[in-house]
Amino acid sequence: MKQVRVRFAPSPTGPLHIGGVRTALYNYLFARKNGGTFILRIEDTDQARYVEGAEEYIMESLEWCGIVVDEGIREGGNFGPYRQSDKKAIFRQYADILVDKGDAYYAFDTPGQLESLRSEAEKAGKTFIYNAEKRDGMSNSLSLPEAEWRDKLDKGEPYVIRYKMPANEDISFEDLIRGQIVVNSSTLDDKVLFKSDGMPTYHLAHIVDDKIMEISHVIRGEEWLPSLPLHIMLYRSFGWDPPAFAHLPLLLKPDGKGKLSKRDGDKMGFPVFPLFWPYGDTAKGYREDGYFPDAFINMLALLGWNPGTEQEIFSMDELINSFSIDRVGKSGSRFDPEKARWFNHQYLQHRSNTELALEFRDLLRTRGYHDDIVKLEKLVALVKERVSFVKDIWTQTDFFFKAPDTYDQDAVKKRWKDDSPKLLMELKLLLTDILDFSASSAEKAINEWTIKNGYNTGAIMNAFRLVIVGSLRGPHLFDIIGWIGKEETLKRIDKGITVLSKY
Ligand code: GLU
Repeated sequence: MKQVRVRFAPSPTGPLHIGGVRTALYNYLFARKNGGTFILRIEDTDQARYVEGAEEYIMESLEWCGIVVDEGIREGGNFGPYRQSDKKAIFRQYADILVDKGDAYYAFDTPGQLESLRSEAEKAGKTFIYNAEKRDGMSNSLSLPEAEWRDKLDKGEPYVIRYKMPANEDISFEDLIRGQIVVNSSTLDDKVLFKSDGMPTYHLAHIVDDKIMEISHVIRGEEWLPSLPLHIMLYRSFGWDPPAFAHLPLLLKPDGKGKLSKRDGDKMGFPVFPLFWPYGDTAKGYREDGYFPDAFINMLALLGWNPGTEQEIFSMDELINSFSIDRVGKSGSRFDPEKARWFNHQYLQHRSNTELALEFRDLLRTRGYHDDIVKLEKLVALVKERVSFVKDIWTQTDFFFKAPDTYDQDAVKKRWKDDSPKLLMELKLLLTDILDFSASSAEKAINEWTIKNGYNTGAIMNAFRLVIVGSLRGPHLFDIIGWIGKEETLKRIDKGITVLSKY
């Protein structure tokens, strides 16, 4: 195989969809697996769709995911510029080469004229296609006398450069995922290669850039497959060998019906972007939702590629070792938000208590609470198995930090009895006298007291839990009171009795 050089080439038109992150990931894995180079190229030649902030967002997303760029705007490299708008003039030279060869031509038809031809055709139930059949009737350098079109150029009339697609030719090419494909050129139109605003279109720009950057493999989304015959023709016209192509299957909505779109996330309550997008319509991000980047990447890697084994948990290094294009499927992969959470749960179980305690401490600080790491580690250990996100540690342990503001109505109805205040008052006296207020000594004292008085342990413990936690949830109650300490325990008993006796 020749030196592997692959590129991820997003257009900065908004936040990067997770489908785009997956494309970047597969390119990255392929590059690393084959000792190649991973390039980030910004394709910003469509000025109408350019969105401020998107370029930064793309770079930050890749960084968060652990996808390391070898050559790009920030990293530099010998094949730049890595932003297409920085080399407009270069693209123009290549458009001219095709015009000079007779494989492309100037077209002067105005947007208004094209629009009315399109709507006329539509009324007749047809589609207007600017192609070999139609081009003679249009206003271009193939249909007009030379003097006339040269005059238009001299006068500065707006024009575009179109590719002259042959009338009836079988174009055959190979896709690494889909195999051999043959398309007849009669189904294709004379695509615009260079626009009247002085910018190349994607079709021309990416071919030229892939050539300049010595790209060996183009790995991109399936939506580009219909354009591939045109791209193959462009390679032929330039006399260049095309790179190898691999078109990745779509990411589908959770119900499998259609492509996962940018709007699906906010509609269905899960993120479709790696990071929160702060401009325009707000959109959730995996990072802000509390996903670990390695869990997110692991989940994404398996949406379209399968390792051929039962293994599901892969570190980035393991993905690099196992990845191959042969194991990328042809059919779309259904995105499963539950499975995404499952991955995060698995990764959280493998994080050390210290790591989790450190992250949890940051979250606590934002809520105005703090505690030392050793104590937080113990807390993490108590609830770890039950949580999928660091933020869940808070919902599972909030009562360690603050007295309940409200009490669970159902639990109160079921578990708060007429004699509960009396029993808890007695319990309070007992706890007041305990000198060493640890979980185990409090437990021992309470047990002895219940047995001695012939009390019902269940009834006491339920009422006790209600005043301490506010509901019947949470870990072992003695662990909770051992943590919050005597003073706080006594305060919560008082508060609980006062509030619940009024119910
Ligand atoms: N700029 C194109 C996109 O954003 C890149 C397609 C390609 O990789 O060739 O989808």
